[in-house]
Amino acid sequence: MKIDLHAHSTHSDGVLTPQQLVARAREQGVEALALTDHDIISGLAEAAAAALQHGIHFISGVEISVTWGRRVVHIVGLDIDPNSVELQARLQKLQQARDERAQRIGVKLHKAGVPDAYAHAQTLAGGGNVTRTHFARVIVASGSCDTEAQAFEKYLAQGKSGYVQTQWATLEETVALITGAGGVAVVAHPARYKMTRTMLRELLREFRALGGMAMEVVNGGLNADSIAANAALARQFDLLASVGSDFHHPKNRWIELGRLAPLPQDLLPVWSKFSFA
Ligand code: AMP
Ligand code: MN
Ligand code: MN
Ligand code: MN
Repeated sequence: MKIDLHAHSTHSDGVLTPQQLVARAREQGVEALALTDHDIISGLAEAAAAALQHGIHFISGVEISVTWGRRVVHIVGLDIDPNSVELQARLQKLQQARDERAQRIGVKLHKAGVPDAYAHAQTLAGGGNVTRTHFARVIVASGSCDTEAQAFEKYLAQGKSGYVQTQWATLEETVALITGAGGVAVVAHPARYKMTRTMLRELLREFRALGGMAMEVVNGGLNADSIAANAALARQFDLLASVGSDFHHPKNRWIELGRLAPLPQDLLPVWSKFSFA
C-alpha cells in the first residue's frame, strides 16, 4: 500500500490547496494520505472531502512547532480529532506567536535590505500561516538570493540577520495535546535536526517518557543509511514507524507524494493504529 503521512498545503507553506494536494496524491497512486500543515488544521475539512471523492484514505494531521531546550523540533500529530477544542485553542495561540514573529522578521529583513517582506509574505500565505518558507520566496522574488535554500542560508537560518527566536509549544504539552485529541504523536524527520546522536537519543527518550508513540523512519529523499539509522532508533526506543514525504512544492524534483522507500519489515507501522489498516 502506498502511504504518505506528512504533507503541506497552502494553509501553511505548501503551494497546493488541500484539494489539489489530494488530487496529486491520487495521481501518484497514494492510497492513504495525511495533511500535516504547520501549527494549523484549517485545511483538513477540504482535504477530507476531496479524499472521499477520490476514494483514498485520509488521516487528519498537524505538524506542531516545539521549542526543546534551545532548539526547534517538529512533532507531527496523526489521526487527531480536528474538533478538539483544546487543540484548536493551542494552535490559535501558536498562530499568534507565528504572526508576531513574522512581523519581527519583516523588520529585520527591512534592515537587511529586503523591504516590505512581512506584507509580501502575508500576501503569499493567502490567509494561511506565514512561515519562513514564505519569507524565503519573498527574498528570492526581491532578487536578493537565487534560491530559497540560499535565502535560508543567508537570512533565515538560526543566527542569521532575519532570524527571530520564538517560544513555540513545549514537548510535554504537544504530546499531551495530540494524545488528548485522540491522535498519535510522531517525531518528524529526525535526520534533519543538526543534533548529535546523543542529543537525538535524549529527545527520543524524553518524548517516549512523555507518552510519545512514534517517529518518522522514512522521509522523502532520505538515503538508505539514514533510514537504517532511523530504524535503529525506532527499535531502541520501541517507537512505531511513520513514513512521510514532507511534500511542499511540485517543483522540488527530489520529493514526490508517496515516493518513499519501504519500511524495514520488523518495524510496526504507525498506521496499524488507524482504522483503514
Ligand atoms: P517555520 O516553521 O516558519 O520556521 O518554517 C520552517 C519551514 O521552513 C520548514 O518546515 C521547511 O519547510 C522550511 N525550511 C527550513 N529550513 C530550510 C532550508 N534550509 N531550506 C529550505 N527550506 C527550509
Ligand atoms: Mn515546511
Ligand atoms: Mn518539519
Ligand atoms: Mn513538514
